[in-house]
Amino acid sequence: MIQIEHLYKNFGPTQVLKDINLRIEQGDVVAILGPSGTGKSTLLRCLNYLVTPTSGIITVGDVRVDAQKYRKQDVLALRKHLAMVFQNYNLFRNMTALENVAEALITVHRRPKSEAMETALKLLQKVGMEERKDFYPSKLSGGQQQRVAIARALAVNPDVILFDEPTSALDPELVGEVLRVMQELAREGSTMLVVTHEIGFARSVASRVLFMDGGEIAADGRPDEILDHPKQERIRQFLNIME
Ligand code: ADP
Ligand code: MG
Repeated sequence: MIQIEHLYKNFGPTQVLKDINLRIEQGDVVAILGPSGTGKSTLLRCLNYLVTPTSGIITVGDVRVDAQKYRKQDVLALRKHLAMVFQNYNLFRNMTALENVAEALITVHRRPKSEAMETALKLLQKVGMEERKDFYPSKLSGGQQQRVAIARALAVNPDVILFDEPTSALDPELVGEVLRVMQELAREGSTMLVVTHEIGFARSVASRVLFMDGGEIAADGRPDEILDHPKQERIRQFLNIME
């Protein structure tokens, strides 16, 4: 589903991603853990070219994009396969929950408005938000906003959903409702890459855990291998701090 080959990203003189190589299969739920500043967000952003890689090749489905020689339409094609959920929801403030979810269907996919609204309503039902469909983001809790953001990500029917710390901005009591929606997506077979500090989620929902450190993938394996029997001292230290 996704292949990353020799991905590098520098910001000026700083090398943030160093030769990342990764294959992700359809249906994989990959939890990406690691200290802050190690390049986790940059990795997700390079996948959809929100950040342009310095070098490397990214393949998603049948689209292959080489950072050294690519066309604009390759990037647009790549983005069709991917949707992203951010820490701060990034909903449109001047649109209701329903309009937020329908927006890309109308403007990007050129669906008739009535059909887009119908699809959006089904997706709001899926995340348990249909009763608040006409609420503006400012009238919703963080957890509710994030569930709307997940419905919006699903609207374009992506092959892979990228989550960048989806629960990090939430009050503790609101984390569970968002993780439950994500768990349900995983159960349905969605392919997901999730940057998270929720070790419990990684343990119980992920099929695979990556540990990033210093711009590299320091460990890659099943949750029990990485979380219960970590080989490296730096992973043990990280888990001690988190748990
Ligand atoms: P993480 O998500 O693991 O916390 P990031 O990918 O956000 O890490 O950042 C990795 C490193 O890259 C950090 O040192 C950060 O300061 C730097 N960085 C990220 N984005 C930019 C940018 N747009 N310009 C310059 N430096 C950046
Ligand atoms: Mg980050």
